[in-house]
Amino acid sequence: ADAPPEDYLAGLNPAQREAVLALDGPVLMLAGAGTGKTKTLMTRVAHLYWHKHVPSDQILAVTFTNKAALEMRKRLENSPFGIKTPMKWMGTFHAVSVKILRRHAELVVGAQPSKVSGPSIKVRNDLKPHSNEALAEIGMLEGAPNSSYEVHSNTDRLHLKSNFTILDTDDQLRLMKQLIVAANIDEKRWPARLLAGIIDGWKNRALTPDRVPSSEASAFNNRATELYEAYQQRLLALNATDFGDLLLHCVTIFQKYPDVLESYQRRFRYILVDEYQDTNVCQYLWLRLLAQAHKNICCVGDDDQSIYGWRGAEVGNILRFEKDFPGAQVIRLEQNYRSTPHILAAASGIIARNEGRLGKTLWTDEKDGEKVRLIGHWDGDEEARWIGEELEGLQRGRGHFEPHSLEDMAILVRASHQMRAFEDRFLTIGLPYRVIGGPKFYERQEIRDAMAYFRLAVSPDDDLAFERVVNVPKRGLGDKAVQSIQLEARAQGSNLVEGARGLLARSGLGGKGAGQLRGFIDGIDRWHEAVLGARPALPEDTLIEPMLPDTPPANDMGHVRLAETILEESGYVSMWQNDKTPEAPGRLENLKELVNALEKFDSLQGFLEHVSLIMDTDRQEADEQVTIMTLHAAKGLEFPIVFLPGWEEGFLPSQRSMDESGNKGLEEERRLAYVGITRAEKLCTISFASNRLYFGRWQSQLPSRFIDELPAKHVEVLTAPSLYGGGYGAAAGFGSGYGSAVEDRATKADVYNSPGWRRMQERSAARPVSQPREARGMTIDAVALSAYVIGDRVFHQKFGYGEVMGIEGDKLDIEFDHAGAKKIVARWVIPAHQ
Ligand code: ATP
Ligand code: MG
Repeated sequence: ADAPPEDYLAGLNPAQREAVLALDGPVLMLAGAGTGKTKTLMTRVAHLYWHKHVPSDQILAVTFTNKAALEMRKRLENSPFGIKTPMKWMGTFHAVSVKILRRHAELVVGAQPSKVSGPSIKVRNDLKPHSNEALAEIGMLEGAPNSSYEVHSNTDRLHLKSNFTILDTDDQLRLMKQLIVAANIDEKRWPARLLAGIIDGWKNRALTPDRVPSSEASAFNNRATELYEAYQQRLLALNATDFGDLLLHCVTIFQKYPDVLESYQRRFRYILVDEYQDTNVCQYLWLRLLAQAHKNICCVGDDDQSIYGWRGAEVGNILRFEKDFPGAQVIRLEQNYRSTPHILAAASGIIARNEGRLGKTLWTDEKDGEKVRLIGHWDGDEEARWIGEELEGLQRGRGHFEPHSLEDMAILVRASHQMRAFEDRFLTIGLPYRVIGGPKFYERQEIRDAMAYFRLAVSPDDDLAFERVVNVPKRGLGDKAVQSIQLEARAQGSNLVEGARGLLARSGLGGKGAGQLRGFIDGIDRWHEAVLGARPALPEDTLIEPMLPDTPPANDMGHVRLAETILEESGYVSMWQNDKTPEAPGRLENLKELVNALEKFDSLQGFLEHVSLIMDTDRQEADEQVTIMTLHAAKGLEFPIVFLPGWEEGFLPSQRSMDESGNKGLEEERRLAYVGITRAEKLCTISFASNRLYFGRWQSQLPSRFIDELPAKHVEVLTAPSLYGGGYGAAAGFGSGYGSAVEDRATKADVYNSPGWRRMQERSAARPVSQPREARGMTIDAVALSAYVIGDRVFHQKFGYGEVMGIEGDKLDIEFDHAGAKKIVARWVIPAHQ
């Protein structure tokens, strides 16, 4: 009776069709980006379901990201597939593993029969015990229970229970730290984060404590295996697992209990795996165990898109597939349906530089379309501004390029801290956006904390801010202490800062907390004073040298410096510096980004106002939004229009990969570049900036080496609307529609007038000027800060255009077109091409 809504096989090419029809036996589909691997995989699911009548809960389909899994599920429900029954076993490796593990948790047992003693840890327990519905949903109440499970009940030994908690990285690290301290190891020399890395690495390789090779036992000062064992025991005692355990426990159960494994082998008659190139050893074993009996496993992947090496992914798993599943059918797809030839050629040109590739042919039937666009900007703000204008322009349609929805557009960055500039710009111009794979910048924990400190400095009355950070970092002020402060404040009819002061004055608070609280409110007093003492913003006409004091008044450190001081003195920065969780470096990056954002405002208060205003407009969710995400998260996705900003040395490739010896890291970065370009269907724009604010300091940037690797034939270099370009590059239907040149220059002057710019000027004296780079036939003008020479045209915000007639140290004699001759400090003019 049931039939698919459409002929789902109709649109497939012969190779894809072959891959769909080969339902039984092992199949490896090895093919480049956009060749329809995922589409073919989904069609296989449909074919199993409609043609072979395999019930949907007998099909195991694993992908890498939650987003990809969701996307697949959605697509299978609609035309042409129309599978209405839910795919219960379609999800990420971790999601599927949790389901399995909840059913057999009791098979995960500890080494000792008694309860392990140890330091206590508070574990979040937000997982409710399973209701019958929930149990039915994961298949525990289905049919007759398999009686053989009962044999394995472990009532006398410590074992996991089915309502176990999954620890996040913070909890995980805290627990390890306690174990390290308990083992009398110097946590400073041997930080928990190091141990976490070692243990995660072992788990990725499916190594339980007893299986760690003796050659690696020397890790962590010879204590790693012992601590690993203790850690696993503690987790059991807490009825908890970490992320790595989810798969590892499954593998262990499968290996130890053949009957359990068999039941899953029977259940999952067909197994499908997307993004196979990113599986690690543990995932590989997991798959192999499940598929070993029936061998109906189909894996699809692309070695050029392997971007999780840093997490233990092994491209070698692809090569091993044919060994483990002899007679596997290997299918290659070569036609790319996603991108235009220029985009494809640009991506291929880059990835060709990697060594040791399996090598693939890729071709497309598409019309040429637009070349990949490349543009260099003066600084990060200009890059964000330009992209914002481009997005709006593309929304309206430009030249022969038809209008596009913001939904069609994506900005893909290497690291999440690169998102801030775009978020700020888009909030300012009211362009709706979404951030995938993490909260929006101003919603992040560390940003909210830091802003709470700023709020207290501006207004000590801000009790909400006080409550937020009074014990962040830890000051020994628990809920009880905070309650006492609140009571005191209420009695006094004052704010919490005064309440705390009153409480201290009458010694109403004992212990270590008292001293720490005093430090905290002393800090607030100091910072508040600094805010009050700050000089007002300079009026417009103070651009000429003599009116500008070279040293600010003694009581004013400037709001940017003040912000840094607050974050340092409060202990907030060191809290994250001492935090060894994998997230900590990212949080520190975000704090630096926050300080960068401050540069554009004249006071802390102005900044806070800006943020509260933009946060407010932010709340109205728009239907159409541009997507901002990391390259890692974009894997497997596609967008008609893609922007790839920040192609600079140190960003892409990342600094870490550049510092590493050998080129393994660099090759992975190159694959990331490849993944980025191949996400684009019609238009791909790569950009870089020559200057970036970094923790309040200007830093000059070099364009990414991958830019040099772009084949010139497929790239169009746009001229940045920078000072040096003397106008805007109008290229192939794009590039028109910017604000007037003078307006842009005025904005530029704002930048030049900022304190950050002045610092940069000082630094730049000692800095070599970057030279234009020759890149396979195309010249990229790495915009450089160069000194003036006599005859240069310049622009001054008040006096307009003029010509440099003489140079004396940092002062220029300028003959202005209208205002006549003036002597002006070089930093107050900007170069002009006019
Ligand atoms: P990636 O390596 O990036 O994950 P992929 O190989 O999984 O890419 P898909 O995402 O499945 O590629 O397909 C890329 C695009 O090409 C999709 O929009 C898909 O609908 C389209 N496509 C695939 N095969 C065909 C076909 N035979 N005819 C028309 N369009 C196709
Ligand atoms: Mg795919």
